[in-house]
Amino acid sequence: MKIRVEQISPESRKKRPTDAMKIAFGTVFTDHMFLMNYSGGAWHDPRIQPYQPLMLDPAAMVLHYAQGIFEGMKAYRRGDNIYLFRPMDNMRRLNSSAARLAMPRIDEGLVLEGLRQLLLIEKDWIPQERGTAIYIRPTMIATEPKLGVRSSEEYLFYIILSPVGPYFKEGFEPVRIYVSDKYVRAAPGGVGAAKAMGNYAASLLAIQEAFQSGHSQVLWLDAIHRKYLEEAGTMNVFVLLKNELVTPPLTGTILPGILRDAVIQLAREWGYTVNERQISIDEVIEKAETGDLLEMFGSGTAAIISPIGHITYRDKSYSIGGGKTGPLSKRLFDELTAIQCGEKKDTHGWIVSLPCS
Ligand SMILES: *Cc1c(COP(=O)(O)O)cnc(C)c1O
Repeated sequence: MKIRVEQISPESRKKRPTDAMKIAFGTVFTDHMFLMNYSGGAWHDPRIQPYQPLMLDPAAMVLHYAQGIFEGMKAYRRGDNIYLFRPMDNMRRLNSSAARLAMPRIDEGLVLEGLRQLLLIEKDWIPQERGTAIYIRPTMIATEPKLGVRSSEEYLFYIILSPVGPYFKEGFEPVRIYVSDKYVRAAPGGVGAAKAMGNYAASLLAIQEAFQSGHSQVLWLDAIHRKYLEEAGTMNVFVLLKNELVTPPLTGTILPGILRDAVIQLAREWGYTVNERQISIDEVIEKAETGDLLEMFGSGTAAIISPIGHITYRDKSYSIGGGKTGPLSKRLFDELTAIQCGEKKDTHGWIVSLPCS
């Protein structure tokens, strides 16, 4: 399928931020977007057009029943190259989210080609300073105007781009997280393993309460026992104990993070024993008290690695690794960001590189 391109005239281009280091995450968008529509059982009219508001019928099904999914990925520009990190994994995950939400599959190759063309058109928007990138947000929404709960017959798929500064402005800052035993993010049989819009709406109240008590994230526990760790906000969570690095298993309530997978691979290569196993909050607290809990961190595309310095559970706070960033968190962050921006040789086949000229 041919991708139609309608470019904005040079004089109506937006003013680009002069200092990419200062852009707040997710606030600036580029001049163009990729779109395609689904109806009559097929995707059609893939196109790149000027970034603009969408026209949606107020009865569009996504606005009522949250039949919507998205992805999050980053591209880095260094010199004459744009680097993408495991983009096919994002495409495959988009399709597994689509399957869970009874939405149509996308053609992974076509969408990747649309993204490639979009990035090339917007190459001057991709900042080049250390720590900066362009954040990519592929999105699929149900657009059929109909009230009544069933799967939509019409969809819109689009990709928007947002230049982002470094997630941590003054070096690594370990976060304080609040363990929620009142609210849950996902339950067995639900949509926790999909990047489904409703998951994030469901998490807002817990995040608000965590903010109000001086925390920056929520540590989610499992829905049934309210006991086993699931995720840290919108990141996968890792716990480094004396003899093992632990992360909760992918049993359907956890988003299968691409960074999670990369962390597991790197840590194993570096000689750590990595176990995907259930770990209870009681075990975490007991090991924090005996000094056997060395590090805790989250992994995800936005922050890459986010060290956790404190956790609060049932009104008691515990510090982890003295509230400082541990050596494994630091090493993973340095290694992953160096691979992602093409500074370090990619020995895993993770990088797709696009020449700009
Ligand atoms: C996107 C996301 C992650 C991280 O996935 P990555 O592919 O590593 O960016 C983890 N948890 C949730 C809930 C997410 O939405």
